[in-house]
Amino acid sequence: MRKQRYIAYFSMEIGLDVNIPTYSGGLGILAGDTIRSAADEEIPMVAVTLLHRKGYFFQKLDEVGAQIEQPVDWKVEDCLQEVPGRASVIIEGREVLLRAWKTEVRGISGGVVPIFFLDADLPENTEPDRTFTHYLYGGDARYRLCQEVILGIGGVRILRALGYKYIVKYHMNEGHAAFLGVELMNEVLQIRKRKLFSDSDIAKIKSRCVFTTHTPVSAGHDQFPRDLVERVLEGGKIGELKDLLFHENVLNMTYLALKFAGYINGVAKKHGEISRHMFGTYSIDSITNGVHAATWVSPRFQPLFDRYIPNWKQDNFSLRYALNIPREEIWAAHEEAKAELLKHVNRITNVGMNNKVLTIGFARRITPYKRNDLLFSDVKRLMKIAEKGGGLQLIFSGKAHPCDVMGKDMIRRVVAAMGEASSQIKAVYLPNYDIILAKLLTAGVDVWLNTPQPPLEASGTSGMKAALNGVPSLSILDGWWLEGCIEGVTGWAIGTIPNPDSAKDPAQDAQLLYDKLETGIVPLYNNDRNRYIDIMRNTIALNGSFFNTQRMLQEYVLKAYFEP
Ligand SMILES: *Cc1c(COP(=O)(O)O)cnc(C)c1O
Repeated sequence: MRKQRYIAYFSMEIGLDVNIPTYSGGLGILAGDTIRSAADEEIPMVAVTLLHRKGYFFQKLDEVGAQIEQPVDWKVEDCLQEVPGRASVIIEGREVLLRAWKTEVRGISGGVVPIFFLDADLPENTEPDRTFTHYLYGGDARYRLCQEVILGIGGVRILRALGYKYIVKYHMNEGHAAFLGVELMNEVLQIRKRKLFSDSDIAKIKSRCVFTTHTPVSAGHDQFPRDLVERVLEGGKIGELKDLLFHENVLNMTYLALKFAGYINGVAKKHGEISRHMFGTYSIDSITNGVHAATWVSPRFQPLFDRYIPNWKQDNFSLRYALNIPREEIWAAHEEAKAELLKHVNRITNVGMNNKVLTIGFARRITPYKRNDLLFSDVKRLMKIAEKGGGLQLIFSGKAHPCDVMGKDMIRRVVAAMGEASSQIKAVYLPNYDIILAKLLTAGVDVWLNTPQPPLEASGTSGMKAALNGVPSLSILDGWWLEGCIEGVTGWAIGTIPNPDSAKDPAQDAQLLYDKLETGIVPLYNNDRNRYIDIMRNTIALNGSFFNTQRMLQEYVLKAYFEP
């Protein structure tokens, strides 16, 4: 039995290592960075996720940008250790046995956070049940619901089986994990030898649960029809709990998480505000996301920081002293990071990019609200900007969910537009965006671009990775950029205020983007290098020092984990 009191962190995806492909994008990377910072700060945390034996998917692209999806062939035994504990959940009346695999994240001063990956692929289970933990965000609604039962209910049970008795807080990273509240209620009723729950039981569970919501549109929340839920949970002894599950005859995982959580937050100030509008009856705070600094600062900048800001890994706030680093050294480190990226790009694509040319990076999940093709709204104008301004190079990357038809179309449009512009602009779309590519890209480009449709970017984190490497953002004012943008100081805004009409008129946002490039960024980069480097240095000092998971986790500790 473990006497230590733990924070249990539940997430459907965790992105830690490129060889453990159990993530699809920002949500998983945030989870990984949170765990790393918890280990650094020696916070007693234990994390739970699913194994995703076939990953999210491996992305290939054909010549026209059509996405081909393949299962990821990764070797679980090489990356994780099986642990002896077993747990089970009831799904459709059958007992589904679960085991767990473990890895440990070690922090800067020796703190350790174990991560348990739940696995249903056991000979005791039926063939179809063995696949429940194969594909991240795969399959149909039933498959997703079964995965969420395994994560929430199975997750609590495996922690018990492994001896974690004293868990002071359960942190649900997005609504996928909300069934953990159902299991906690089961435990309470069992202890109190009752069948019916009371308000005080709910209050008890609330005192132990934290919920972070990530989606600013209600359509983005997982929802399951009542008959499906009843079929899947049949035999699972949740009879009296059914009242808790349904909201107008559907199970909405966000509502379920809200019901069980005593502390709720959005992931940026604006997102907190939007969430309060969406869920009026709940009290919702905000804690702005961050990234793990030591992970995302490139090997080119690390020695520079070590020299000028010796304690930067222990104390990310001290990155404010980046203002003391001489311009030439910032530029030299950046040139090295850029050379490394372009060498990689040239080697795998033969595009022949030039280290001296202004290079814009854009990489993230591909989905309509991210408007990954906005830069190509007017290819002729973009070509003119490049022609007049000494050239432009573009590096794009990102996966579309296999069912996201519009997202996949968008990749094809981007690839086609790159072809159209090729006489003037060297541009590539790199397949299979992952952690390694993200590191190369966010450190190696000159400008990090983001063009979401407001207010749909809850936070965004890749611009924070860029900031830590002195790469300024050019972005729509949404999510974290509303807090991080100081115009002409830490980067540039596209448009002045978050424009509620821009959803209707992306062409207008595109024009604002071109204007800013043409009259601001391109001339500054080519003709006023010192001022450009000042902006780079400011992004480290003002944004790198703040938008990190060390500061973020300290807020969680004060407001959510160990509140008085
Ligand atoms: C950081 C990261 C993301 C998230 O990027 P956003 O800007 O928040 O959309 C997605 N995928 C990978 C591989 C990342 O490293």
